[in-house]
Amino acid sequence: MILKQKTSVDCVALLVAAGRGNRFGGETPKQYVKLMGVSLLRRCLKIIGIHPRIKHIRVVIHPDDMQLYKEATKGIKLLKPIFGGDQRQESVYLGLKSYKEINPQYVLIHDAVRPFITHDIIDAVLASLDDQHVAVIPGLIVSDSLKHVKKNKVITSVDRANLWQAQTPQGFNYKTITDAHESMMGLALTDDSAIAEKNGVSVEVIKGAIENFKVTTPQDLDRGENFLNMNGEKKTMRVGLGIDVHGFKPGKSVTLCGIKIPFNKSLKGHSDADVAMHAITDALLGAVGAGDIGLIFPPTDPKWKNCKSEIFLTRAGSEVKQRGGKIINIDLTIICEKPTISTYRDQMQKNIARILNINDKKINIKATTTEQLGFTGRKEGIAAQAITGVQI
Ligand code: MG
Repeated sequence: MILKQKTSVDCVALLVAAGRGNRFGGETPKQYVKLMGVSLLRRCLKIIGIHPRIKHIRVVIHPDDMQLYKEATKGIKLLKPIFGGDQRQESVYLGLKSYKEINPQYVLIHDAVRPFITHDIIDAVLASLDDQHVAVIPGLIVSDSLKHVKKNKVITSVDRANLWQAQTPQGFNYKTITDAHESMMGLALTDDSAIAEKNGVSVEVIKGAIENFKVTTPQDLDRGENFLNMNGEKKTMRVGLGIDVHGFKPGKSVTLCGIKIPFNKSLKGHSDADVAMHAITDALLGAVGAGDIGLIFPPTDPKWKNCKSEIFLTRAGSEVKQRGGKIINIDLTIICEKPTISTYRDQMQKNIARILNINDKKINIKATTTEQLGFTGRKEGIAAQAITGVQI
């Protein structure tokens, strides 16, 4: 039995958000990826931050993520973040050390990628700590059969009796876990319970919750969305419009939606003048309130001279993703007398789908003339309009 230490602070929380790990779309570390418009880290903080027994919260972050952290924590009262180490274990140790002055009774250590933490779980962990346990973790009984597999072949079946999956927040007597980390430095253990166990500390398990899962793949985000939908959090639909025009110059082909179409002229422009792809890019940026193509890629910057417009569209796609948006459809109209678009429509749709990593059935490409009226009618150039629906 461990007697309570003399300390004025009952409980603090430490959020581990320094990992690079799996990423969605290759740019944003998963703890900052948005789930229905709110980052995973912010979702955790909004729940933990209003728990009456948690007096302070500190987040361990990666030095490269300061801007993302600032955005994710806007308006939430927190201690100054600290930078983590190369391994999770080192990050947690640095976080624990940062609480030395405060010297709390308990510390709850939580993964920033478990956004569905509940006050019920926190209460159960704290109740068990109040019962004089020094280390408490939430867990779930393993219900699926377990196999030891190598190169897609089952080596052996694993007896699942007494097997549990460990979750977070893991709760500890502050001094006990800090001492355990200190004596286990340099090991790459995957959770703090393992560190406590290796240090001879008895770890108590309480019942976790299925919804308190760890977001590790894009499919987990869909699962999270379904969960939020069931709990009354709804997405809204936003619409974006993009319009572009480029004039002709002498040449042998035009590029539309990244597809080179033989023609007796080319399009003038700073980049490859892909008028159709520019319209789609602007529509996507508009739908998520991310400005426009000229703002992100100024035509005055020589860097973008003769560049492929695929770069612009890729960026627009990641702006959508970063805001937790999902492209529902893109409808593009190319306006010109010539060249004839119809034979290239399929290739164009597939190319846009490839760049945005979406199903090509979400993209519709139309072409129209203006009955020989106006600049397109006089064959002076090509205009394009795109409209897109983004669920966010
Ligand atoms: Mg343009």
